[in-house]
Amino acid sequence: MADSFVVHGRDGGGPFLLVSDHAGQAIPPDLAGLGLSEAERARHIGWDIGIDGMGRALAELLPAVLIEQIYSRLVIDCNRAPGHPTSIVRVSDETPVPGNHDLSDQQVAWRQQVILHPYHARIARALDERQAQNRPTVLVALHSFTPSMRGKARPWQAGILHNRDSRLAQIMLDLLRAEGLTVGDNEPYALTDTSDYTVPLHAEKRGLPYLEIEIRQDLIATPAGQAEWAQRLARLLPAAWQQFCHVYGEQP
Ligand SMILES: [Zn+2]
Repeated sequence: MADSFVVHGRDGGGPFLLVSDHAGQAIPPDLAGLGLSEAERARHIGWDIGIDGMGRALAELLPAVLIEQIYSRLVIDCNRAPGHPTSIVRVSDETPVPGNHDLSDQQVAWRQQVILHPYHARIARALDERQAQNRPTVLVALHSFTPSMRGKARPWQAGILHNRDSRLAQIMLDLLRAEGLTVGDNEPYALTDTSDYTVPLHAEKRGLPYLEIEIRQDLIATPAGQAEWAQRLARLLPAAWQQFCHVYGEQP
């Protein structure tokens, strides 16, 4: 099988490395669509709707490198530690996933080895290279969230998730709110060691500043919406970094 990730954009010398854990919809042919209809696979349970187009546009505008997972989160969730109870979900938002039931250890290990590990190894390599050059680095994890969950509408247009290091998150929250947006502070999800994998593994362990950004899916469902959010973030991310350096000093 080919690589489980694609690399977009280019290194423009700035501090940002962009990653998208849930940008893809692919399912390995042998898994027969996990027993789901195309319509179910296209729902938010399969991927972060709109984040592929938004992330690629953002990578072009900054410019920055974007590492994107191409496989559906239903095959294996790349923002969960291997072996986590929701790494390979049996039910997602009330939809049973038949292809994820009764998996052997071997089947689980294959998904980890072919999809999860190569993606994270590629991110680690990009960070190693930057660290070897002593370059300041900000990991930016891009996600999108469904506008309503279990019948409950979500009021936020975007969310900033953070855990131990909230410095850059706080600056970005303020900048987004100054645009007149309703922005969740650790909403619709809070960043934790167990509910997340990418930021704890790659940013917090290395002591790198980071942002985990969630955008509501209806706002980036079209190319126009994706371009609008990419332009907003291409403006605000460098502004946030400038403020961060001013307050805390530039850190590799
Ligand atoms: Zn996501």
